Amino acid sequence: AARRLQDKTVLITGASSGIGKSTALEFARTAPSNGLRIIVTARRLESLQQLAADIDKETSGGVKVLPVQLDVSDPQQVRGLVPGLPEEWKGIDVLVNNAGLVKGVAKAPEIAEEDIKVMFDTNVTGLINVTQAILPIFKKRPNGGAGDIINVGSIAGRDPYPGGSIYCATKAAVRSFTDALRKELISTRIRVIEIDPGQVETEFSIVRFYGDKAKADKVYEGGEPLTPEDIAEVIVFTATRRENVVIADTLIFPQHQV
Ligand code: NDP
Repeated sequence: AARRLQDKTVLITGASSGIGKSTALEFARTAPSNGLRIIVTARRLESLQQLAADIDKETSGGVKVLPVQLDVSDPQQVRGLVPGLPEEWKGIDVLVNNAGLVKGVAKAPEIAEEDIKVMFDTNVTGLINVTQAILPIFKKRPNGGAGDIINVGSIAGRDPYPGGSIYCATKAAVRSFTDALRKELISTRIRVIEIDPGQVETEFSIVRFYGDKAKADKVYEGGEPLTPEDIAEVIVFTATRRENVVIADTLIFPQHQV
């Protein structure tokens, strides 16, 4: 499996915590001395720099990590992403569209306008803009192009729940976009992949409750959530299959959840 990652470049959005951060670590552990490059992006640059230092230490410099500050909800920053990369980092092979968030728990009529906007701008428009920025790199390769686009959706996109209508709608949009893109690219070697987690303990619930950790902790009472590593392992497994194998669509949830 690790052979496919030889000299490859991976770009992860939302790599400053949770699933994105674990995915960077998991890629590094899978190919510790293989010339792998990982571009880790998010808004919190300091966390990315810490992650880069951790990976450097763990792999004794075998995996190169480039921290890049990127707010996916800012179209101008997304447009500047590829032009701003050093030349040797531009040949991206794997894109993990993971940045995303939920804000608030409220019935549809009460959801704050600002929360609706930030969820759509990040989870949907941000993911689409990043995909459009990276696709030309994939398309330049022979046979219609090559590369992996791995989109992190959610169980919420398949099974919407009361109090989460906007978040669920954003993840349903991710799912539709992913499916349509896969069909558009079917004659290429570009794999378009959806990974839908169920409940995972990360900073996700803290963000949902606007930083209230006590409220966030309550979410996990009475059940054991997944860890971000559980999802990272599946993402890296999916990305390290041989080119002809497309694990297109995966739903992963803790035993207690459904
Ligand atoms: P975390 O809150 O731990 O991580 C979210 C990441 O997204 C952070 O690195 C954050 O970085 C980044 N992010 C948020 N907004 C932006 C933005 N505008 N631009 C760039 N990066 C951004 O949560 P998770 O790891 O759980 O979430 C990762 C993905 O998994 C999300 O798409 C989420 O919807 C999905 N998911 C999570 C589930 C769960 O139960 N945890 C279940 C199903 C899906 P920063 O703040 O530094 O920008």
